[in-house]
Amino acid sequence: MTRKRLGLKFYGIVQGVGFRPFIYRTARARNLAGFVKNLSDSVLVEIEGDESAIEHFLDSLDTHLPPLAVIERATRKELPLQQDTTFKIEASEKSAAIPVHISPDIATCDDCLAELFDPDDRRYLYPFINCTNCGPRFTIIYDIPYDRENTTMAVFEMCEACRKEYEDPLNRRFHAEPIACPHCGPRLALLNRDGTGIKTQDPLAQCAERLARGEILAIKGLGGFHLAADATRADVVAKLRERKRRGEKAFALMVRNLEDIEKIAHVGETEWEILTSPQCPIVLLRKKRNRIIADNVAPGLAAYGIMLPYTPLHHLLLDKIPYLIMTSGNQRDEPICIANREALTNLGGIADAFLTHDRGIRLRCDDSIAMSLNGKMTILRRSRGFAPAPLKLHKKFDPPVLALGAHLKNTICLLKDDFAFLSPHIGDLETPKARDYLRQSIRLMEKITETTPGIVACDLHPSYFTHRLAEDLAGERNIPWINVQHHHAHVVSCMAEKGIKDYVIGFSFDGTGYGLDGKIWGGETLIADTKNFERVYHLRNFPLAGGERAIQEPWRIGLALLMDSLPEDWEGNAVKLGLAEPGALAPVASVLQKRLNTVEASSMGRLFDGVSAILGCRKVISYEGQGAMELEAICQKSTGVSLHFSRSGNEFDYRPLIRDIVDLKLSGESAGKIAYAFHRAIADLVRDTAQRIRDERKLDRVVLTGGCFQNKILTELSSRLLRSEGFTVLAHENIPCNDGGISLGQAVIAAEKGEWNGNGR
Ligand SMILES: [Zn+2]
Ligand SMILES: [Zn+2]
Ligand SMILES: [Zn+2]
Repeated sequence: MTRKRLGLKFYGIVQGVGFRPFIYRTARARNLAGFVKNLSDSVLVEIEGDESAIEHFLDSLDTHLPPLAVIERATRKELPLQQDTTFKIEASEKSAAIPVHISPDIATCDDCLAELFDPDDRRYLYPFINCTNCGPRFTIIYDIPYDRENTTMAVFEMCEACRKEYEDPLNRRFHAEPIACPHCGPRLALLNRDGTGIKTQDPLAQCAERLARGEILAIKGLGGFHLAADATRADVVAKLRERKRRGEKAFALMVRNLEDIEKIAHVGETEWEILTSPQCPIVLLRKKRNRIIADNVAPGLAAYGIMLPYTPLHHLLLDKIPYLIMTSGNQRDEPICIANREALTNLGGIADAFLTHDRGIRLRCDDSIAMSLNGKMTILRRSRGFAPAPLKLHKKFDPPVLALGAHLKNTICLLKDDFAFLSPHIGDLETPKARDYLRQSIRLMEKITETTPGIVACDLHPSYFTHRLAEDLAGERNIPWINVQHHHAHVVSCMAEKGIKDYVIGFSFDGTGYGLDGKIWGGETLIADTKNFERVYHLRNFPLAGGERAIQEPWRIGLALLMDSLPEDWEGNAVKLGLAEPGALAPVASVLQKRLNTVEASSMGRLFDGVSAILGCRKVISYEGQGAMELEAICQKSTGVSLHFSRSGNEFDYRPLIRDIVDLKLSGESAGKIAYAFHRAIADLVRDTAQRIRDERKLDRVVLTGGCFQNKILTELSSRLLRSEGFTVLAHENIPCNDGGISLGQAVIAAEKGEWNGNGR
């Protein structure tokens, strides 16, 4: 037998996730000696013993890692023997700043769930059960290191039984900072709208009863409040819509278990995996015809957004009522409420009662949203369960960058060394509260990632709030500030996710982004790398009458498209199509003709809106993207109808396509078949354009990015056509293709440019 001693260092998410006890147990099981210890940036292990036992030990690092641990990198070297006889967990060094990489919050694990429903367990039915493998993390942190005294759990003194578990390296709750039990931990309370307590032995049962009676409850969760309501009753859903002033936008559902989900939606293999993952996001699932869910939950759409219960409280509640609407507890356009008083003030007009508790939420975190695209999990909103887990980049950058993201679906990104940290979803920056929340997020993210940015990046749009904020921050901190074009940021966001820096063909299709020429872009084909881009093709411009108003009333876009495509007879066709009341047409047409109060747009998202209006699918919308989403929902696959763009110079010309759509519609062809052909025409355009560029420029990697690629039909069709021609398709998975992913692209572009400037070239 050969005796050996190895020194190992592990980097990544390795602290506060049960990594040390795992090392301890594994080493002991193999009769190895040595120690494990947290350092400021890593975990240090020294291991001594029989060589083959050490090999087995190393193997189990690959196969048996605790579920939340992520080893980003490891180093290893041989050391002189010390003749240790036992294996120990050594105290962290005093100066050790615990994790640079803080774990996201994680859904209740199977072990905790089994205890939750075990009458003999001391945490039976306790709504705050957790362990090192699950529970709150990111949302309860004040500061690093991640120790109990730096979390909102600091106010709860551990009872003796909990402390014993907390201190026992062999226990599943060894150093589980949010450890709690019914004797020493947080408790539930049920409150009236005015904040007075409702007397009850069992707040949770009382809450379920009220929900079943048709009341709307505000429920404090992991990253904020939800508004909950019975999803099976149309009258309750209508009441929630009215009180929340929410027109037709779909509500997310929380459903008791997979069996109950399968009664209302189709669940494929990838979707099943996403639903049951430790991140437990909302998953978009194709609806089944059912008589369970009220029709007004997700009107006009092909899919429901569904999640499983992810906290013990949810499990206990859903056990009593299987289908709930669980929508963000906020006023329109404002951030989700996290504090009890804040919730009472802001949600008092919406909720009938409040189920709350005394474990504080420090950081807001909305539910994440994901779907299956091309058979892969694709994140559309990256928040709870994912933030602030970092993304590894293709190289190290210096100095660090703060990127402020887009105006809608805002997130921020901090780039440090070779990691990018995206914040949770901040939202649309339309209200003062949302803007305050952005400022607060910057401070918190800088603190927990220990980053001092040397560059600030923002969108090119001069009137965006983020643009002004970037200027202010750059002034205050005396650092440079870099503007990044919106669609370039989209492309680079996808490249960064895939670890690519060299030139690609990028299709950046979305609703709105400020162009270099001051017009609205959104149907762009770029040749881009992580520093620069060239706009090689774009959708033909069309005018948006009344600017923002055209977005709310897509029939205005439909009219602009008709006037451009059928200059001789747009009026007769608009009337025959019933595009708008005849009286409404003339004034808008005159605005369009004179180009008064109009902006030019080459936006693919707006083209979807216009086509949706022409087909009679959606003439006025009540939420962003509604036209396009409903157009996708009515698609009927057919090969009988085909549509085509033409190309003039570097423009995609939609005019022949619009003329054909009008002819088909007026000759009685089904809107569903035309809608499908429209999707197919864009996919054909993507393939043909990529082929052209490949012929000239010898590029064969294609990025599909921008909000339009949340459209399943468009993305899967385009990917299939491109692959069949031998292209490598790069589509988003971890980072949203919509504006939620913009901050990453901005950060990487600014970092590249910053380095470039720094080198004095
Ligand atoms: Zn657990
Ligand atoms: Zn306890
Ligand atoms: Zn965009």
